[in-house]
Amino acid sequence: MAESMRGLHRTCRCAEVTEQMIGSTATLMGWVQKVRNIGGVIFVDLRDRSGIMQLLFENDERGVNSADFEKAAGLRSEFVIAATGVVEARGGEVNKSLATGALEMRVKSFRILSESDVPPFEVKEDSKTRDEVRLKYRYLDLRRPDIQRNIMLRSKVAMLTRQFFAKEGFLEIETPMLGKSTPEGARDYLVPSRIHPGCFYGLPQSPQLYKQLLMCSGYDRYIQIARCFRDEDLRADRQPEFTQIDMELSFVDVDDVIDVNERFLAFLFKEVLDVDVPLPIQRITWQEAMDRFGSDKPDMRFGMELHDVSDIVKNCGFGVFTGALEAGGSVRGINAKGQGGMPRKKIDKLVEFVRGYGAKGLAYIAIGEDGTVKSSFAKFMTDEEMSALISAMEGENGDLLLFAADKKKLVYDVLGALRLELAEQMGLLDKNEYRFVWVTEFPLLEWSEEENRFTAMHHPFTMLMEEDIDLLDTDPGKVRAKAYDIVLNGNEIGGGSVRIHQDDIQEKMFEKLGFTKEQAHEQFGFLLDAFRYGVPPHAGLAYGLDRLVMLMAKVDSIRDVIAFPKVKDASCLMTKSPSEVDEKQLEELHLEIRKDTEAAQE
Ligand code: ASP
Repeated sequence: MAESMRGLHRTCRCAEVTEQMIGSTATLMGWVQKVRNIGGVIFVDLRDRSGIMQLLFENDERGVNSADFEKAAGLRSEFVIAATGVVEARGGEVNKSLATGALEMRVKSFRILSESDVPPFEVKEDSKTRDEVRLKYRYLDLRRPDIQRNIMLRSKVAMLTRQFFAKEGFLEIETPMLGKSTPEGARDYLVPSRIHPGCFYGLPQSPQLYKQLLMCSGYDRYIQIARCFRDEDLRADRQPEFTQIDMELSFVDVDDVIDVNERFLAFLFKEVLDVDVPLPIQRITWQEAMDRFGSDKPDMRFGMELHDVSDIVKNCGFGVFTGALEAGGSVRGINAKGQGGMPRKKIDKLVEFVRGYGAKGLAYIAIGEDGTVKSSFAKFMTDEEMSALISAMEGENGDLLLFAADKKKLVYDVLGALRLELAEQMGLLDKNEYRFVWVTEFPLLEWSEEENRFTAMHHPFTMLMEEDIDLLDTDPGKVRAKAYDIVLNGNEIGGGSVRIHQDDIQEKMFEKLGFTKEQAHEQFGFLLDAFRYGVPPHAGLAYGLDRLVMLMAKVDSIRDVIAFPKVKDASCLMTKSPSEVDEKQLEELHLEIRKDTEAAQE
């Protein structure tokens, strides 16, 4: 029977009991982890979010009465109990894996606050339970100590973020969830309006427009831990709603944003993980990141950089290389140090791997420890050409050289991905190492084959580098933006830009993006209007909080740092959302479900 809390007060959490408390009385409350009944003594591991405390029940004058002893014998996993007793040094063996492993509490009295059905899985660290079961019973899964640590770490990150930015003079300002649908790259989640038939709100993909308006309104330093929504295509480990640490600053340029943010990161990593982040954080341009690492979010924990060998092979006899170059492409390679003895089967796997990235193949040179060379294309090359290529790759005995030849972008993608795959296989990725890098000077525009026009790489309000302004007319693809990403161990954890605050440049930008004046006004009119009344130069940045916490918690899935995550198809297995709604609700919203949709649902 469930008893009440009347007259009871918890004195502390389980793992907050210390040796100094030996001899004193404490009242602990929590969940039964485990019961061990060894005849005259019953041991119960009591769990709360701080950890575990061992309770000892004995039926004698120092312990509980017979009725309570009987009751203790009936305790099962996940019962919620309150126990009052005396803290003692542990009689039996000390458990070194617990903070309270040298202590126990001799129970004098206790209450069962609630009982529990047999749970569908045991609540314990690193349980091997299937994801579907874990997420269906998320409230139990959230009791697991490892998940609780993640959620507590997340709370600490949010708290320290607010603390840091408040000290720096930032104001926390909320922006609407029900906003205007403005395509910002991804698809919007829409909310139908009951009062305005046929009209919809859009849930924010980010507070971008609002935070720029706040700068127009003079708040000069804004921060928000903001929920964002993007209805993107299904992909593992992507959440339809996610959280940003979002900020905007007035009267600043790139260096100012970078400065405050690297001090923030150093503060956060020191406070949470006791990790020193050396400042300033290294900066590389987008072009350099692509050339050296084949990626705009390079993992800097290891080398294995790309080598451009186009010039070396341009006149060689290997048609795959020369063909790619004649078509305007590029030939580049990476040197997997010490992998020259890789078995053929494993190399074939790498070939398969790069095919997944659109490569037609992968050329290789394997240099044996004794200097013998095996290569997929040696027969097309002269000895001189081969040795020139090997020396350009800084190839030494025991190395494996891998080459991609194709359009430049594809070569970057393929070798960038291959570099990471090899690093993983070679054990070069240390989760305890945190390497940050700023990637700057992103291209402003990106050509979309699909839409046959330029699209904004960051967003349409991103300022271009002053020295590239003339290129906007002559060679728009070459224009660099005042945009920056902060990358941690190969993950983009944040990004932002200086914004355009000059209307002539903004107009030109819209024109390049293929917006007519009317379209631009239809979508962003309020922002453009606001800019007519005195707009300060401004810039900002947003972090993906979920990913940042995931890296700090050293876990592999973003779901392990979100209390109630959704699965790949954007549904929640616990609440079973999204779900159908009543006819009446639809009617009020002036909506009708199409017949073919109904059929598809069935
Ligand atoms: N709103 C941008 C984003 O969500 C970040 C920024 O430019 O501040 O990526």
